[in-house]
Formats: sequence, C-alpha cells, structure tokens
Amino acid sequence: MTDILEALRDLLDDDAVLAPDQAAQRASSYWDPAPLRAAALVRPRDARETGLVLALCHDRGQPVVTHGGLTGVVDGVRSGPGDVVLSTERMTAIEALDDVGRTVTAGAGVTLQRLQEAAAARGLLVPIDLGARGSCTIGGNVATNAGGINVIRHGMTRDNVLGLEAVLADGTVVTSLNRMVKNNAGYDVRQLFVGSEGTLGVVTRVVVRLVEAPAGRTTALASVPSFDVVPSLLRALERALGGQLTAFEVMWGDYVRAVTEPGLHRAPMGRDHPFYVLVEAEGGDPATDRAAFLAALERVMAGELVTDAVVAHSETERRALWAIREQFEALFERRPIFLYDVSLPLGSMAAYVDEVQARLRRRWPDSRCDAMGHVGDGNLHLFVHPGTATGDDLHAEADDDVYEPLRPIGGSISAEHGIGLEKRDRLPISRSPAEIELMRTVKRALDPRNILNPGKVLPPA
Ligand SMILES: Cc1cc2nc3c(=O)[nH]c(=O)nc-3n(C[C@H](O)[C@H](O)[C@H](O)COP(=O)(O)OP(=O)(O)OC[C@H]3O[C@@H](n4cnc5c(N)ncnc54)[C@H](O)[C@@H]3O)c2cc1C
Repeated sequence: MTDILEALRDLLDDDAVLAPDQAAQRASSYWDPAPLRAAALVRPRDARETGLVLALCHDRGQPVVTHGGLTGVVDGVRSGPGDVVLSTERMTAIEALDDVGRTVTAGAGVTLQRLQEAAAARGLLVPIDLGARGSCTIGGNVATNAGGINVIRHGMTRDNVLGLEAVLADGTVVTSLNRMVKNNAGYDVRQLFVGSEGTLGVVTRVVVRLVEAPAGRTTALASVPSFDVVPSLLRALERALGGQLTAFEVMWGDYVRAVTEPGLHRAPMGRDHPFYVLVEAEGGDPATDRAAFLAALERVMAGELVTDAVVAHSETERRALWAIREQFEALFERRPIFLYDVSLPLGSMAAYVDEVQARLRRRWPDSRCDAMGHVGDGNLHLFVHPGTATGDDLHAEADDDVYEPLRPIGGSISAEHGIGLEKRDRLPISRSPAEIELMRTVKRALDPRNILNPGKVLPPA
C-alpha cells in the first residue's frame, strides 16, 4: 500500500497536501505553540475533494483530525504523527447572501468576522459573536456549537444554523443546505453535526440565519454590591429593556482587578467593587433606545442593585469596556493556568464559586481562581492557577475541585466549549450512561471505523 502522503497527493493538487515537516512549521493551536504533528496536512477546497480524502482514509482506517481556526479550548484539534489533519482553510467562499430571505451560505473555513462584515455591509447581523471572531471559522463554530456574547438574545450557534453540508466518514456528501426557519420534514439532519466536534463528519458549508442589524448599541459597566442582587438585576433589566438586552456578563472583582493592573486595561471605575456587570442592549432607534437604557440604569441604581456605572459614549469607549471582559491574556502570564467553562442554575452560582475557591485554597493555599462569564446564560468561566504547587496531576486535581461540586446541582462540565480530549473522561458527570450509550450508537452508525477525531468527546467504553 502506498504511503498516505503519496496517496493523498494522487487525489489532490500537490499544494493541497503538506508533508509532516511542512505541517510542523505551524503551531498546534491558538493555545499550544508546539509544532503541529501529522502524517499529512490536507486542504481540500470543497465537499467533493473532502469526500475523496475521507473515502481514502475510510478504506485504510486512517484517523483524520479536522482543523478550523484552531481557537477551540478543549484540545479537540490535538493530532499525533499518525493522523491526517484536514484543514478547512481553503473553503473560504461566501457564496450567497440573501437579504430577502436573510440567510448567508458560506464555506466552513470563512472566519466568523468575515461573515459578520459581509452581513453588516448589507445592513444585517450574524447573530453569533465571540471573542475569537477574527480567527475562528463558521465550520468550527458549528462543530463546537459555539455560544458567545449574544446568546441571551439570539441563542447558541445551534439556533442560528439553518442548514449545512457535511461529508461523512466514508466520503458520502450530505447536502442539507436548508434556508427556511421552518422545516419539519423528518429528522433534523443538520443538528447531528452541530456540536459534534469533528467526530461525526466534516462540515464543508453552512447556511446561517441573519437578523436586522441594530441601529445602535448602548453599553455600560456597572458595579454591584454582591452576587445576591445579580438575578434581580438581570430580571429588572430584561423587564425594562424588553427584548433588547444582548449581553449580561458578570465579572468577579478579583478578575477585573487582575486585568486592570497598571499597564493593562484602563479601569473605567473604582477597582475595589466585589462584582461588575457588563450590560449591552441593541435597538432600532438610537435616541429612544439610549434614553430607555439610561432610565433603566437609573432605576436599578435607585433600587440599590447597582452601586456605580459607566456608560460608553463612543465605539472606542465601548470597545475599551468589552476589552476588560474579552481580553484576559494577562491571566495567562500566571503559569500554569487552567480555563474552565461550566454552566449551572443562576441561583446556585455564588455558592458554587465560593465552594470551588474554598476547595482550591484547601488544596493549594496560594492558588487563584478568578471567575467571570455569560452569567445571563448560566455560564461561568473560571481561571485556576495552582500558585506555587508543583506536580504532574495539578490539572486533574483542579478538575476535581471544579467539576465535582456540579454533580449535586445538576450543572454541566461544558457550557459552550465542548468536550474534546480535555473533558472526555469527565463526561459522565453531566451525561447519564443511557445518554452516553446513545452517543456511541450514533458515532458507530456514522463512523463505523472510528476514523473521525478518534478518542475525542466519548470516553472509552
Ligand atoms: C479569545 C477566545 C475567546 C473565545 N470565546 C468563546 C466564547 O465566547 N464562546 C465559545 O463558545 N467559544 C469561545 N472560544 C472558543 C472557540 O473560539 C470556539 O470553540 C470556536 O467555535 C472554535 O472554532 P474554530 O474554527 O477555531 O475551531 P477549531 O478550534 O479549529 O476546532 C474545534 C473543534 O471543531 C472541530 N472542527 C473544526 N472545524 C470543523 C469542521 N468544518 N467540520 C467538523 N469539525 C470541525 C475540530 O476537530 C475540533 O474538535 C473562544 C476562544 C478564544 C481563543
């Protein structure tokens, strides 16, 4: 049998297939600068070429790891020297932007930001948005069912994908480019692939629902006296702003202090508050929307739900407020650092964070655990630093402290980042044996030779 590199070169143009030494010139991912390891890196242009690659790999039982923008957080793109890496980087066409039906059809490798810009040029909005927008791809967003900062208003990626095209493990192309909101004709094929993290098929094209672009946005950073008032604040703002609230991001005081140290982000208000909330609303009439937003803010301040607030007066000021929430690279100066993404009922959140911090401090007295997240969606991100502790099991020990307290409250070990390799062995915390067995049945049906991202998502049987 010819070597896999040669066999792939027989199928596609020479420049579509990179040898291991060429692949090694790339980083493994956004988070891991180590050289990428692969038996070959293949860059098909479309579903047909993807089908040829997968049919070949299927025949040979050759593992394939799909790569989008490599911003995924759970080690889902990890490859070894025996894997074929399939990158969607050449699937970059925005094929159709239908401003009557309000949909856009795009190649899986189009970055989210490019898609957003194309929609904005026609007065429309892609309802999906996240901090990695400049690098992540729409195919990767579908594969991870990405959440992000607008979920409170527009839902997860799952809610905004109308159709897609995917290639199965054996090379079969499934074209399901539905453009209607309503289509109950049988099983919903597209949803099989949303959130499947490259284990059930390779997504090659996506149809995304668009909505009218807002005429304006109002953004404020508010300080709140304790977490106890956060649920009331959320409800008060939802009630006052109708459906216009698009973001409700809570940051624990220690998180804000860490990212606004001198030389980092400028602190727009006092740095000694216990909690901060970034609030954003979108609407169709900037003048009245802003007035309604300010009135709502005044009411919650009068009701002592908010102690202080800063409202952005320009796009530059808005971006500066968002930078505090989205640009947390400073935390990664602490090494090692473990990033978590969990979800749980809002009412259990403050006690949960207290318990995790207490467990970590008992284990490592000088540890840090900073918290923030899309709290309006019940989603928390934790940044855990074990302080001066050393050892090979630090990450697993931190996992115990973060995940175990989720069991009694029915929380999820993954709100929006997926499972990948990193959380695979913890899946039983959030899914029952019957659920995991059903997932295995689906995997066996679609990928009987287990070539697609093998070893990811599902724990060994
Ligand atoms: C600064 C920053 C902020 C972030 N904020 C958020 C956030 O708010 N919300 C959130 O949900 N995530 C967030 N993320 C995580 C990440 O951006 C998302 O998971 C994103 O959807 C991954 O897209 P990607 O193209 O980079 O995928 P990759 O990282 O390349 O891949 C992720 C997984 O999907 C699979 N995959 C990729 N493309 C395809 C395809 N076409 N077909 C089949 N499988 C595929 C891969 O095999 C892998 O398992 C953030 C990341 C960063 C760096």
